[in-house]
Amino acid sequence: MKLSEKMSSLGTETAFEVLARAESLTNEGRDIINLGIGQPDSAPPAQVVDAAIKALRDGHHGYTPAPGIYPIREAVAEYLAHTLRVEVSPENILVTPGGKPTIFFAIMMFGELGAEILYPNPGFPIYESVIRFSGAKPVPIPILERNNFSFKADELLSLITPATRLIILNSPGNPAGGAACKSEMDKFVAGIDARPDIAILSDEIYSRIYYGGTEHISLLSYPQIRNRLILLDGWSKTYAMTGWRIGFSVWPNELIEGAIRLAINCHSCVNAASQWGAIAALKGPQTSVLNMVASFDERRRFLVEALNAIPGITCKDPVGAFYVFPNITGSGINSFTLQQELLEKVGVATIAGTSFGKFGEGYLRISCASPLQNIRLAVDRIKDYLSCC
Ligand code: PLP
Repeated sequence: MKLSEKMSSLGTETAFEVLARAESLTNEGRDIINLGIGQPDSAPPAQVVDAAIKALRDGHHGYTPAPGIYPIREAVAEYLAHTLRVEVSPENILVTPGGKPTIFFAIMMFGELGAEILYPNPGFPIYESVIRFSGAKPVPIPILERNNFSFKADELLSLITPATRLIILNSPGNPAGGAACKSEMDKFVAGIDARPDIAILSDEIYSRIYYGGTEHISLLSYPQIRNRLILLDGWSKTYAMTGWRIGFSVWPNELIEGAIRLAINCHSCVNAASQWGAIAALKGPQTSVLNMVASFDERRRFLVEALNAIPGITCKDPVGAFYVFPNITGSGINSFTLQQELLEKVGVATIAGTSFGKFGEGYLRISCASPLQNIRLAVDRIKDYLSCC
């Protein structure tokens, strides 16, 4: 068979490969602690499950409108009005199977040979993969420890060329947990004013997961860029609903019709039960979100302190998301080798920083989405491993 040239440029998300290897080692009888995973270890709120079961019992088995049933788009608009104090019309909202399709659609809309797309590096690996797949040139925005794992507006703006079509930002960010501060956001928005032809994709999937009282700053709250901003958010992380495959995006008037056309060509619609469950998540009590963030916080604080006590490792406090991103350069081992050694030799699954791009060399991503007793054990194993080599 002759595959299209494009297929060779498509990357992947290493977390899924590590997950598969961790599972196969577990099946061989090995005791594996999986801190590679990017999904909350809690359950969705009870009202979500009840609403989805009710939807199925009520006979919601068919296709729904491609952008999502109207009640869910209304519920998302109310949610954004409440959480961000921003008015959004339900007509500009697209409900998708998870957040990922929004990344794919936005890049497909703007990416082609000759175009350039800026994306965070280290960052969610799907950005770079899909940019390459589209034929566009991926231009990394360095997300560096010395900048608290966020972007510097001046540095970002200096990467723009006449070929730039789309800028992808992610705050709070995966893998390092940095968040853009208001002054850098303001500077970015002011600087981009000179280039009204460039679209912006703001991936805010971790918008509700912050520590130490830090407030989320959404690019949706800047009216100057609303006509070219695509906002990505969803239920996967906030409501521990990764397997329900449901997310939402807000598109400007000029782009929403194209986004719906991409959805019709790709997945038709999200299943109705997930949509009714997702409405219940937004409208019901938010205690499970608060409890989840509190337990991530406890684990994060433990991990940062314990990792900083290991010779060869230093670890910054993440501001948001649910990962820590320790600097392992002092160990003298590169990221990929350490990922492999920890998994194969001491049974701890983590993700090499390089899985998130070249600026991730010298780091490991460790997830807080595992009970504290597992995290304690994992840190002991990492310490023992590093003290022996
Ligand atoms: N964006 C970022 C930054 C992520 O970390 C993830 C998932 O890990 C996604 C988007 C995709 O989320 P979903 O599972 O809803 O497709």
